[in-house]
Amino acid sequence: MNRIQAPMLSNTKQATYEQRTVAGAEMEEVAGRKDLEAHWVRVCDRLRKEIGDKAFKTWFGEVELGELKAGKLRLYAPTRFVRDWVARHYGDRVLAYWQAVNTEVGNVEVNLVPPPSPPRRANELIAMPPVPSQSYAQPMPRLGPAIGRGGEESFQGPEARYTFANFVVGKPNEFAYAAARNIAEQDRPLPERNPLYIFGGVGLGKTHLMHAIWHAIRERDPKVRVLYLTAESFVNRFIQALRTKNTGQFKELFRNVDVLMVDDVQFICGKEASQDEFFFTFNSLVEQNKQIVLSSEKPPSELQDIEERMRSRLGSGLVADIHASTYELRLSILQTKAETARVPVPIAVLEFLAHKINTNIRELEGALNRVVAHGQLIGREITVEMAQDVLHDLLRQADRKVTVDEIQQRVAAHYNIKLAEMSSPRRARSVARPRQVAMYLAKQLTTLSLPQIGKRFGNRDHTTVMHAVRKIEELKISDLSIAEDVELLKRQLQG
Ligand code: ADP
Ligand code: MG
Repeated sequence: MNRIQAPMLSNTKQATYEQRTVAGAEMEEVAGRKDLEAHWVRVCDRLRKEIGDKAFKTWFGEVELGELKAGKLRLYAPTRFVRDWVARHYGDRVLAYWQAVNTEVGNVEVNLVPPPSPPRRANELIAMPPVPSQSYAQPMPRLGPAIGRGGEESFQGPEARYTFANFVVGKPNEFAYAAARNIAEQDRPLPERNPLYIFGGVGLGKTHLMHAIWHAIRERDPKVRVLYLTAESFVNRFIQALRTKNTGQFKELFRNVDVLMVDDVQFICGKEASQDEFFFTFNSLVEQNKQIVLSSEKPPSELQDIEERMRSRLGSGLVADIHASTYELRLSILQTKAETARVPVPIAVLEFLAHKINTNIRELEGALNRVVAHGQLIGREITVEMAQDVLHDLLRQADRKVTVDEIQQRVAAHYNIKLAEMSSPRRARSVARPRQVAMYLAKQLTTLSLPQIGKRFGNRDHTTVMHAVRKIEELKISDLSIAEDVELLKRQLQG
């Protein structure tokens, strides 16, 4: 059982429950169920805001609400893995949020397998609430009932706190920020800045900027029709339209739009029909001099499986990138966020976080929230030691950055070959196999791309690295000793 214990436990309401008559208790139960579901919606909402849509969908998309008995709230996870993950990584937050909306909750238990009569899914519940203004819904009729989950999610309306005012500007993002503001303040799109294409790594603020554009445009002129959707949603809707032979209605969605924003366009890569449709939509809007804003994890030149005409179209306007964050930017983001927290967070703790968590802003925010929540709930003073303690799982990950050099050294030592063989052109099996293992590990344990890895192994081509990765993946299944080698090396390197 994966129980998340709370420091406080209130069972007082339970006693009165038992004294009630059966009929009364039943009615009470129906009402209670409704409340509980409403609370779950709020908990999900806060979780989603904190950990981001993607993580929320991954971990909570299929978690279902169970029952509240004797202060114990049950959730049901679809798999053992999700159950353990949710309990381990999100347990404290789930509990804290539950307690914030329902004081009866003393602890939360995540169980396996759906209950016999499954309650509603978290996703359906969260799809209901905030569609803040008609404007958002106005140009987008729902296309039939069974749109995929991705589709629903992106039509929920912009995130209120994703505004320009809340966006901290620094060297890595100042250009993208300026470009976004400029678009939001233009009356008519300038052809040379259309589309605006913002790209950058995960969690660096692309979606934030897009929503900020949305808010700013609407604030300036509430009549402007702005349509924001994720590329995933575009694809899902398009597929749905094809399936129900209703492409007319799909096209209608985009017809009267003044500004079209599509988030994460890299999702369209490799999806031919959707790409064609997107290309068509795109062109017809540009022809009408409508502004288009796109975001992507990659620059147009690095998108794969995409038609050339599409690639050049995407990059034909203003391309603005968000670079990896710097220590200074991370610190100033933390300072801004800490100002709004209800407990004081010492600067030393902020510096510690900015220094240790250098992956992305989302994780940084999550870390700060966790520290603050602990401070509030347990009443513990916020110090560097406390942060270290609360975030030990996260910090271990951050510390576990493995380098190619380390990998090569370890692997060479393990197979008892010279380090130089890692980059030598020799193809004898006795050195080629260890080299492949090292390439495989480099792919697994670092964030380097295939070409970057190839370079580190005697300037080899990325296809060689790809081949090595595939080969080792195969061997891991067919050859027990390789599987063991790889596991052992991995553990040593991450240790
Ligand atoms: P992306 O879409 O690039 O993956 P998001 O826009 O979802 O990233 O940003 C992740 C989180 O980090 C959001 O909560 C966002 O508000 C926050 N964030 C990113 N950059 C900044 C910034 N410069 N200032 C304030 N918050 C930021
Ligand atoms: Mg995003």
